[in-house]
Amino acid sequence: MAKIQMKTPLVEMDGDEMTRIIWSMLKEHLILPFVDLKTEYYDLGLVKRDETDDQITIDAANACKKYGVGVKCATITPNAQRMTEYNLKKMWKSPNGTIRAILDGTVFRAPITMDCLKPSVRSWNKPITIARHAYGDIYKNTEFRVPGAGKAEIKFTDEAGNVLCDETVFDFKCPGVFMGMYNKDDSIESFARACFQYAIATKQDLWFSTKDTISKKYDHTFKDIFQRIFDEEYKAKFDELGITYFYTLIDDAVARVIRSNGGFIWALKNYDGDVMSDMVATAFGSLAMMTSVLVSPDGNYEYEAAHGTVTKHYYKHLAGETTSTNSMATIFAWSGALRKRGELDELPELVHFANMLEKASLDTIASGHMTKDLALLADMEDKHIETTEGFILKIKENLEKLLAC
Ligand code: NAP
Ligand code: MG
Repeated sequence: MAKIQMKTPLVEMDGDEMTRIIWSMLKEHLILPFVDLKTEYYDLGLVKRDETDDQITIDAANACKKYGVGVKCATITPNAQRMTEYNLKKMWKSPNGTIRAILDGTVFRAPITMDCLKPSVRSWNKPITIARHAYGDIYKNTEFRVPGAGKAEIKFTDEAGNVLCDETVFDFKCPGVFMGMYNKDDSIESFARACFQYAIATKQDLWFSTKDTISKKYDHTFKDIFQRIFDEEYKAKFDELGITYFYTLIDDAVARVIRSNGGFIWALKNYDGDVMSDMVATAFGSLAMMTSVLVSPDGNYEYEAAHGTVTKHYYKHLAGETTSTNSMATIFAWSGALRKRGELDELPELVHFANMLEKASLDTIASGHMTKDLALLADMEDKHIETTEGFILKIKENLEKLLAC
Protein backbone atom coordinates (compact mmCIF):
# COMPACT_ATOMS: atom_id res chain seq x y z
CA MET A 1 0.00 0.00 0.00
CA ALA A 2 1.43 3.41 -0.96
CA LYS A 3 1.89 5.77 1.95
CA ILE A 4 -0.31 8.86 2.15
CA GLN A 5 1.65 11.98 1.28
CA MET A 6 1.52 15.22 3.27
CA LYS A 7 2.16 18.78 2.08
CA THR A 8 2.74 20.97 5.16
CA PRO A 9 4.33 19.65 8.35
CA LEU A 10 2.49 19.16 11.62
CA VAL A 11 4.07 20.56 14.77
CA GLU A 12 4.82 17.50 16.91
CA MET A 13 5.37 18.14 20.62
CA ASP A 14 6.66 15.13 22.52
CA GLY A 15 6.17 14.85 26.27
CA ASP A 16 6.80 12.88 29.45
CA GLU A 17 6.44 9.56 31.27
CA MET A 18 3.77 7.02 30.22
CA THR A 19 2.33 9.26 27.51
CA ARG A 20 5.80 9.58 25.96
CA ILE A 21 5.95 5.78 25.75
CA ILE A 22 2.47 5.70 24.17
CA TRP A 23 3.53 8.47 21.77
CA SER A 24 6.35 6.45 20.22
CA MET A 25 4.27 3.22 20.15
CA LEU A 26 1.37 4.80 18.36
CA LYS A 27 3.57 6.55 15.84
CA GLU A 28 5.38 3.29 15.12
CA HIS A 29 2.26 1.13 14.75
CA LEU A 30 -0.57 3.44 13.71
CA ILE A 31 0.90 6.35 11.74
CA LEU A 32 4.29 5.66 10.16
CA PRO A 33 3.27 2.44 8.30
CA PHE A 34 0.47 4.38 6.54
CA VAL A 35 1.47 8.04 6.29
CA ASP A 36 4.62 9.62 4.92
CA LEU A 37 4.62 11.73 8.06
CA LYS A 38 5.99 15.27 7.89
CA THR A 39 6.44 16.89 11.29
CA GLU A 40 8.52 19.61 12.87
CA TYR A 41 9.54 17.88 16.10
CA TYR A 42 9.86 19.61 19.48
CA ASP A 43 10.80 17.62 22.54
CA LEU A 44 8.79 19.15 25.39
CA GLY A 45 9.92 16.43 27.80
CA LEU A 46 11.01 17.95 31.11
CA VAL A 47 14.70 17.11 30.56
CA LYS A 48 14.81 19.09 27.32
CA ARG A 49 12.79 21.98 28.76
CA ASP A 50 15.28 22.26 31.59
CA GLU A 51 18.24 22.02 29.23
CA THR A 52 16.88 24.84 27.00
CA ASP A 53 15.62 27.04 29.88
CA ASP A 54 12.13 26.33 28.52
CA GLN A 55 12.93 28.07 25.21
CA ILE A 56 11.80 24.89 23.41
CA THR A 57 8.22 25.41 24.61
CA ILE A 58 8.18 28.96 23.25
CA ASP A 59 9.66 27.74 19.95
CA ALA A 60 7.03 25.01 19.69
CA ALA A 61 4.19 27.47 20.32
CA ASN A 62 5.57 29.80 17.65
CA ALA A 63 5.81 26.87 15.24
CA CYS A 64 2.09 26.19 15.87
CA LYS A 65 1.42 29.77 14.80
CA LYS A 66 3.55 29.30 11.70
CA TYR A 67 2.10 25.97 10.54
CA GLY A 68 -1.41 26.24 12.00
CA VAL A 69 -1.70 22.69 13.35
CA GLY A 70 0.07 20.97 16.24
CA VAL A 71 -0.27 17.79 18.26
CA LYS A 72 1.02 17.64 21.83
CA CYS A 73 1.83 14.81 24.22
CA ALA A 74 1.07 15.27 27.93
CA THR A 75 3.88 16.93 29.86
CA ILE A 76 4.90 17.27 33.50
CA THR A 77 4.22 20.60 35.16
CA PRO A 78 7.01 20.66 37.73
CA ASN A 79 6.34 20.97 41.46
CA ALA A 80 8.74 20.72 44.42
CA GLN A 81 8.97 16.95 44.16
CA ARG A 82 9.82 17.10 40.42
CA MET A 83 12.58 19.64 41.17
CA THR A 84 14.43 16.90 43.06
CA GLU A 85 13.38 14.02 40.81
CA TYR A 86 14.73 15.75 37.68
CA ASN A 87 17.34 17.95 39.38
CA LEU A 88 15.82 21.02 37.69
CA LYS A 89 17.38 24.47 37.41
CA LYS A 90 14.00 26.11 37.98
CA MET A 91 10.35 25.25 38.57
CA TRP A 92 9.38 25.77 34.92
CA LYS A 93 5.84 26.95 34.17
CA SER A 94 3.16 24.69 32.77
CA PRO A 95 3.92 24.19 29.03
CA ASN A 96 0.19 24.30 28.32
CA GLY A 97 -0.02 27.69 30.04
CA THR A 98 2.89 29.00 27.95
CA ILE A 99 1.41 27.69 24.69
CA ARG A 100 -2.04 29.09 25.52
CA ALA A 101 -0.61 32.51 26.32
CA ILE A 102 1.25 32.63 22.97
CA LEU A 103 -1.66 31.31 20.88
CA ASP A 104 -4.28 33.25 22.94
CA GLY A 105 -6.52 30.29 22.55
CA THR A 106 -9.70 28.75 23.88
CA VAL A 107 -9.62 25.13 25.02
CA PHE A 108 -12.42 22.82 23.81
CA ARG A 109 -12.75 19.50 25.60
CA ALA A 110 -15.02 16.76 24.30
CA PRO A 111 -15.47 13.16 25.47
CA ILE A 112 -15.11 10.20 23.09
CA THR A 113 -18.49 8.54 23.55
CA MET A 114 -19.50 4.94 22.80
CA ASP A 115 -22.70 2.92 23.30
CA CYS A 116 -20.97 0.50 25.68
CA LEU A 117 -19.81 3.34 27.92
CA LYS A 118 -22.89 4.68 29.68
CA PRO A 119 -22.57 8.21 31.10
CA SER A 120 -23.56 8.62 34.77
CA VAL A 121 -26.23 11.02 33.55
CA ARG A 122 -28.63 8.70 31.72
CA SER A 123 -30.10 11.33 29.39
CA TRP A 124 -26.70 12.28 27.86
CA ASN A 125 -26.67 10.46 24.55
CA LYS A 126 -24.41 12.93 22.73
CA PRO A 127 -21.10 14.48 23.84
CA ILE A 128 -20.98 17.79 25.70
CA THR A 129 -18.04 19.97 24.67
CA ILE A 130 -16.70 22.37 27.28
CA ALA A 131 -15.13 25.61 25.97
CA ARG A 132 -12.95 27.12 28.66
CA HIS A 133 -11.64 30.69 28.48
CA ALA A 134 -7.96 30.09 29.19
CA TYR A 135 -6.96 33.60 30.23
CA GLY A 136 -6.95 35.71 33.40
CA ASP A 137 -9.43 35.78 36.31
CA ILE A 138 -8.40 33.86 39.42
CA TYR A 139 -5.39 32.31 37.60
CA LYS A 140 -3.75 35.74 37.41
CA ASN A 141 -5.05 37.14 40.68
CA THR A 142 -3.37 39.25 43.33
CA GLU A 143 -4.39 38.02 46.74
CA PHE A 144 -3.60 38.90 50.26
CA ARG A 145 -3.88 37.16 53.61
CA VAL A 146 -5.17 39.88 55.90
CA PRO A 147 -3.40 39.56 59.28
CA GLY A 148 -5.87 41.62 61.34
CA ALA A 149 -7.88 44.85 61.52
CA GLY A 150 -7.36 47.21 58.57
CA LYS A 151 -8.91 48.42 55.35
CA ALA A 152 -8.83 46.58 51.99
CA GLU A 153 -9.14 49.02 49.08
CA ILE A 154 -9.40 48.79 45.30
CA LYS A 155 -8.12 51.54 43.04
CA PHE A 156 -7.78 52.29 39.33
CA THR A 157 -5.65 55.14 37.97
CA ASP A 158 -5.84 55.86 34.24
CA GLU A 159 -2.81 56.68 32.08
CA ALA A 160 -3.30 60.42 32.62
CA GLY A 161 -3.18 59.92 36.38
CA ASN A 162 -6.93 60.33 37.09
CA VAL A 163 -8.23 58.05 39.83
CA LEU A 164 -11.39 56.52 38.35
CA CYS A 165 -12.10 54.04 41.11
CA ASP A 166 -11.09 54.15 44.76
CA GLU A 167 -13.34 52.03 46.92
CA THR A 168 -13.22 50.19 50.19
CA VAL A 169 -13.62 46.47 49.61
CA PHE A 170 -13.96 45.71 53.30
CA ASP A 171 -13.17 47.29 56.62
CA PHE A 172 -11.55 44.39 58.48
CA LYS A 173 -11.87 44.09 62.26
CA CYS A 174 -10.23 40.67 62.31
CA PRO A 175 -7.95 38.50 60.10
CA GLY A 176 -9.29 37.43 56.69
CA VAL A 177 -8.51 37.32 52.98
CA PHE A 178 -8.96 39.49 49.92
CA MET A 179 -8.07 39.42 46.23
CA GLY A 180 -8.07 41.40 42.98
CA MET A 181 -8.40 39.93 39.49
CA TYR A 182 -8.82 41.13 35.92
CA ASN A 183 -9.62 40.27 32.36
CA LYS A 184 -9.27 42.14 29.05
CA ASP A 185 -11.93 42.95 26.46
CA ASP A 186 -9.74 41.72 23.61
CA SER A 187 -9.21 38.35 25.29
CA ILE A 188 -12.94 37.97 25.94
CA GLU A 189 -13.63 38.91 22.30
CA SER A 190 -11.16 36.26 21.10
CA PHE A 191 -12.83 33.73 23.40
CA ALA A 192 -16.25 34.61 22.00
CA ARG A 193 -15.07 34.36 18.37
CA ALA A 194 -13.33 31.03 19.01
CA CYS A 195 -16.58 29.67 20.49
CA PHE A 196 -18.81 30.93 17.68
CA GLN A 197 -16.39 29.61 15.05
CA TYR A 198 -16.12 26.22 16.74
CA ALA A 199 -19.93 26.01 16.94
CA ILE A 200 -20.14 26.72 13.21
CA ALA A 201 -17.34 24.26 12.37
CA THR A 202 -18.96 21.45 14.37
CA LYS A 203 -22.60 22.54 13.71
CA GLN A 204 -23.57 22.48 17.36
CA ASP A 205 -25.56 24.90 19.53
CA LEU A 206 -23.50 27.15 21.79
CA TRP A 207 -24.43 27.84 25.42
CA PHE A 208 -22.68 30.45 27.54
CA SER A 209 -23.16 31.06 31.23
CA THR A 210 -21.71 33.34 33.93
CA LYS A 211 -22.88 34.77 37.25
CA ASP A 212 -23.92 38.13 35.77
CA THR A 213 -26.74 38.74 38.26
CA ILE A 214 -24.24 38.94 41.13
CA SER A 215 -21.23 40.26 39.22
CA LYS A 216 -22.90 43.17 37.45
CA LYS A 217 -19.73 44.59 35.89
CA TYR A 218 -17.18 41.75 35.67
CA ASP A 219 -19.34 38.84 34.52
CA HIS A 220 -21.84 41.15 32.81
CA THR A 221 -19.04 42.38 30.54
CA PHE A 222 -18.51 38.78 29.34
CA LYS A 223 -22.23 38.44 28.64
CA ASP A 224 -22.42 41.77 26.76
CA ILE A 225 -19.33 41.09 24.63
CA PHE A 226 -20.62 37.65 23.59
CA GLN A 227 -24.02 39.10 22.64
CA ARG A 228 -22.52 42.00 20.63
CA ILE A 229 -20.14 39.75 18.70
CA PHE A 230 -22.88 37.22 18.04
CA ASP A 231 -25.30 39.87 16.70
CA GLU A 232 -22.69 41.66 14.61
CA GLU A 233 -20.68 38.75 13.20
CA TYR A 234 -22.28 35.34 13.59
CA LYS A 235 -26.09 35.53 13.83
CA ALA A 236 -26.66 35.18 10.09
CA LYS A 237 -24.41 32.12 9.82
CA PHE A 238 -26.04 30.48 12.86
CA ASP A 239 -29.52 31.05 11.33
CA GLU A 240 -28.35 29.56 8.05
CA LEU A 241 -27.03 26.41 9.80
CA GLY A 242 -30.06 26.17 12.12
CA ILE A 243 -27.95 26.31 15.27
CA THR A 244 -28.54 28.63 18.24
CA TYR A 245 -26.61 30.78 20.68
CA PHE A 246 -28.09 30.71 24.17
CA TYR A 247 -27.02 32.69 27.24
CA THR A 248 -28.20 31.78 30.72
CA LEU A 249 -27.17 32.26 34.34
CA ILE A 250 -24.67 29.58 35.40
CA ASP A 251 -27.02 28.11 38.03
CA ASP A 252 -29.71 27.64 35.41
CA ALA A 253 -27.16 26.24 32.95
CA VAL A 254 -26.04 23.56 35.42
CA ALA A 255 -29.63 22.38 35.88
CA ARG A 256 -30.30 22.39 32.12
CA VAL A 257 -27.05 20.54 31.32
CA ILE A 258 -28.01 17.71 33.66
CA ARG A 259 -31.47 17.43 32.10
CA SER A 260 -30.17 17.70 28.51
CA ASN A 261 -29.37 15.03 25.91
CA GLY A 262 -25.95 16.58 25.20
CA GLY A 263 -24.78 17.52 21.73
CA PHE A 264 -23.82 21.17 22.36
CA ILE A 265 -20.88 23.36 23.35
CA TRP A 266 -20.92 24.90 26.82
CA ALA A 267 -18.70 27.99 27.04
CA LEU A 268 -17.46 28.94 30.49
CA LYS A 269 -15.17 31.45 32.17
CA ASN A 270 -11.73 30.20 33.19
CA TYR A 271 -12.49 28.86 36.67
CA ASP A 272 -15.97 27.57 35.83
CA GLY A 273 -14.52 25.73 32.82
CA ASP A 274 -11.73 24.20 34.89
CA VAL A 275 -14.20 22.74 37.39
CA MET A 276 -17.05 21.83 35.03
CA SER A 277 -14.76 20.08 32.56
CA ASP A 278 -13.65 17.68 35.30
CA MET A 279 -17.27 17.09 36.29
CA VAL A 280 -18.37 16.43 32.71
CA ALA A 281 -15.33 14.19 32.02
CA THR A 282 -16.03 12.07 35.07
CA ALA A 283 -19.73 11.81 34.30
CA PHE A 284 -18.94 10.64 30.76
CA GLY A 285 -16.81 7.85 32.20
CA SER A 286 -13.09 8.39 32.06
CA LEU A 287 -10.45 11.10 31.81
CA ALA A 288 -8.64 8.73 29.45
CA MET A 289 -11.47 9.28 26.91
CA MET A 290 -11.37 13.08 26.97
CA THR A 291 -9.95 14.99 24.00
CA SER A 292 -8.80 18.57 24.03
CA VAL A 293 -8.09 21.15 21.35
CA LEU A 294 -6.78 24.67 21.71
CA VAL A 295 -8.20 26.97 19.02
CA SER A 296 -6.73 30.43 18.52
CA PRO A 297 -8.73 33.35 17.12
CA ASP A 298 -6.52 33.47 14.01
CA GLY A 299 -7.25 29.82 13.25
CA ASN A 300 -4.41 27.75 14.77
CA TYR A 301 -5.21 24.35 16.25
CA GLU A 302 -3.33 22.40 18.89
CA TYR A 303 -4.62 18.89 19.73
CA GLU A 304 -3.90 16.86 22.86
CA ALA A 305 -5.31 14.38 25.35
CA ALA A 306 -6.92 16.03 28.38
CA HIS A 307 -5.23 13.69 30.87
CA GLY A 308 -1.71 13.96 32.29
CA THR A 309 1.40 11.81 31.93
CA VAL A 310 -0.12 8.92 33.98
CA THR A 311 2.81 8.86 36.41
CA LYS A 312 1.64 5.85 38.44
CA HIS A 313 1.57 3.63 35.33
CA TYR A 314 4.98 4.94 34.26
CA TYR A 315 6.59 3.94 37.56
CA LYS A 316 5.11 0.45 37.11
CA HIS A 317 6.51 0.36 33.57
CA LEU A 318 9.95 1.37 34.90
CA ALA A 319 9.70 -1.41 37.49
CA GLY A 320 9.23 -3.89 34.63
CA GLU A 321 5.52 -4.53 35.28
CA THR A 322 3.06 -4.72 32.39
CA THR A 323 0.79 -1.72 32.05
CA SER A 324 -2.66 -1.25 30.59
CA THR A 325 -2.76 2.47 29.85
CA ASN A 326 -5.47 3.80 27.58
CA SER A 327 -4.12 5.55 24.46
CA MET A 328 -7.51 6.64 23.03
CA ALA A 329 -7.27 10.36 23.84
CA THR A 330 -3.70 10.53 22.49
CA ILE A 331 -4.75 8.66 19.31
CA PHE A 332 -7.65 11.11 18.85
CA ALA A 333 -5.22 14.02 19.30
CA TRP A 334 -3.23 12.64 16.34
CA SER A 335 -6.32 11.93 14.25
CA GLY A 336 -7.68 15.41 15.01
CA ALA A 337 -4.43 17.04 13.95
CA LEU A 338 -4.03 14.91 10.80
CA ARG A 339 -7.66 15.56 9.79
CA LYS A 340 -7.24 19.33 10.25
CA ARG A 341 -3.95 19.24 8.28
CA GLY A 342 -5.75 17.29 5.54
CA GLU A 343 -8.62 19.80 5.44
CA LEU A 344 -6.33 22.83 5.31
CA ASP A 345 -4.06 21.29 2.65
CA GLU A 346 -6.96 19.78 0.69
CA LEU A 347 -5.74 16.20 1.08
CA PRO A 348 -8.89 14.02 1.19
CA GLU A 349 -6.77 10.83 1.66
CA LEU A 350 -5.32 12.23 4.86
CA VAL A 351 -8.79 13.20 6.13
CA HIS A 352 -10.00 9.69 5.29
CA PHE A 353 -7.04 8.14 7.10
CA ALA A 354 -7.79 10.19 10.25
CA ASN A 355 -11.44 9.07 10.14
CA MET A 356 -10.43 5.41 9.70
CA LEU A 357 -7.92 5.64 12.57
CA GLU A 358 -10.75 6.80 14.84
CA LYS A 359 -13.12 4.15 13.52
CA ALA A 360 -10.53 1.39 14.02
CA SER A 361 -9.99 2.55 17.62
CA LEU A 362 -13.72 2.61 18.39
CA ASP A 363 -14.26 -0.75 16.64
CA THR A 364 -11.50 -2.28 18.77
CA ILE A 365 -13.26 -1.31 21.99
CA ALA A 366 -16.67 -2.28 20.61
CA SER A 367 -15.27 -5.76 19.84
CA GLY A 368 -14.38 -6.15 23.53
CA HIS A 369 -10.64 -5.35 23.40
CA MET A 370 -9.83 -2.53 25.79
CA THR A 371 -7.52 -1.29 28.52
CA LYS A 372 -8.21 -1.92 32.20
CA ASP A 373 -9.78 1.47 32.94
CA LEU A 374 -12.50 0.85 30.33
CA ALA A 375 -13.02 -2.80 31.26
CA LEU A 376 -14.22 -1.52 34.62
CA LEU A 377 -16.75 0.76 32.94
CA ALA A 378 -17.90 -0.96 29.76
CA ASP A 379 -21.37 -2.43 29.74
CA MET A 380 -20.57 -5.59 27.74
CA GLU A 381 -20.37 -9.38 28.26
CA ASP A 382 -17.12 -10.41 26.65
CA LYS A 383 -14.21 -8.18 27.65
CA HIS A 384 -10.48 -8.70 27.06
CA ILE A 385 -8.04 -6.56 28.98
CA GLU A 386 -5.15 -5.57 26.73
CA THR A 387 -1.71 -4.24 27.65
CA THR A 388 -0.76 -0.71 26.58
CA GLU A 389 0.95 -1.99 23.43
CA GLY A 390 -1.46 -4.90 22.90
CA PHE A 391 -4.36 -2.46 22.60
CA ILE A 392 -2.51 -0.37 20.00
CA LEU A 393 -1.64 -3.53 18.03
CA LYS A 394 -5.32 -4.59 18.02
CA ILE A 395 -6.21 -1.17 16.61
CA LYS A 396 -3.54 -1.65 13.95
CA GLU A 397 -5.16 -4.92 12.82
CA ASN A 398 -8.52 -3.19 12.47
CA LEU A 399 -6.99 -0.19 10.74
CA GLU A 400 -5.26 -2.37 8.15
CA LYS A 401 -8.60 -4.05 7.38
CA LEU A 402 -10.41 -0.74 7.03
CA LEU A 403 -7.75 0.77 4.79
CA ALA A 404 -7.66 -2.33 2.58
CA CYS A 405 -11.38 -1.92 1.79
P1 NAP B 1 -3.04 11.89 35.17
O1 NAP B 1 -1.76 11.68 34.50
O2 NAP B 1 -4.16 12.35 34.31
O3 NAP B 1 -3.45 10.54 35.90
C1 NAP B 1 -4.32 10.44 37.00
C2 NAP B 1 -4.93 9.06 37.08
O4 NAP B 1 -5.99 8.96 36.13
C3 NAP B 1 -3.97 7.93 36.72
O5 NAP B 1 -3.19 7.54 37.81
C4 NAP B 1 -4.94 6.87 36.23
O6 NAP B 1 -5.63 6.25 37.31
C5 NAP B 1 -5.96 7.70 35.49
N1 NAP B 1 -5.61 7.92 34.07
C6 NAP B 1 -5.32 9.10 33.46
N2 NAP B 1 -5.07 8.91 32.18
C7 NAP B 1 -5.17 7.59 31.94
C8 NAP B 1 -5.01 6.77 30.78
N3 NAP B 1 -4.67 7.30 29.60
N4 NAP B 1 -5.21 5.44 30.91
C9 NAP B 1 -5.55 4.89 32.08
N5 NAP B 1 -5.72 5.60 33.21
C10 NAP B 1 -5.52 6.94 33.15
O7 NAP B 1 -2.90 12.98 36.34
P2 NAP B 1 -1.81 13.12 37.51
O8 NAP B 1 -1.32 11.79 37.94
O9 NAP B 1 -2.44 14.05 38.44
O10 NAP B 1 -0.62 13.92 36.83
C11 NAP B 1 0.57 13.31 36.36
C12 NAP B 1 1.43 14.35 35.67
O11 NAP B 1 0.75 14.85 34.52
C13 NAP B 1 1.76 15.56 36.53
O12 NAP B 1 3.16 15.78 36.51
C14 NAP B 1 1.04 16.72 35.88
O13 NAP B 1 1.78 17.90 35.93
C15 NAP B 1 0.87 16.26 34.46
N6 NAP B 1 -0.35 16.76 33.78
C16 NAP B 1 -0.19 17.15 32.48
C17 NAP B 1 -1.28 17.56 31.74
C18 NAP B 1 -1.06 17.97 30.30
O14 NAP B 1 0.04 17.96 29.81
N7 NAP B 1 -2.10 18.31 29.60
C19 NAP B 1 -2.55 17.53 32.30
C20 NAP B 1 -2.70 17.08 33.61
C21 NAP B 1 -1.58 16.69 34.34
P3 NAP B 1 -5.15 4.87 38.00
O15 NAP B 1 -3.80 5.12 38.58
O16 NAP B 1 -6.22 4.67 39.03
O17 NAP B 1 -5.13 3.80 36.95
MG1 MG C 1 -9.56 21.02 36.59
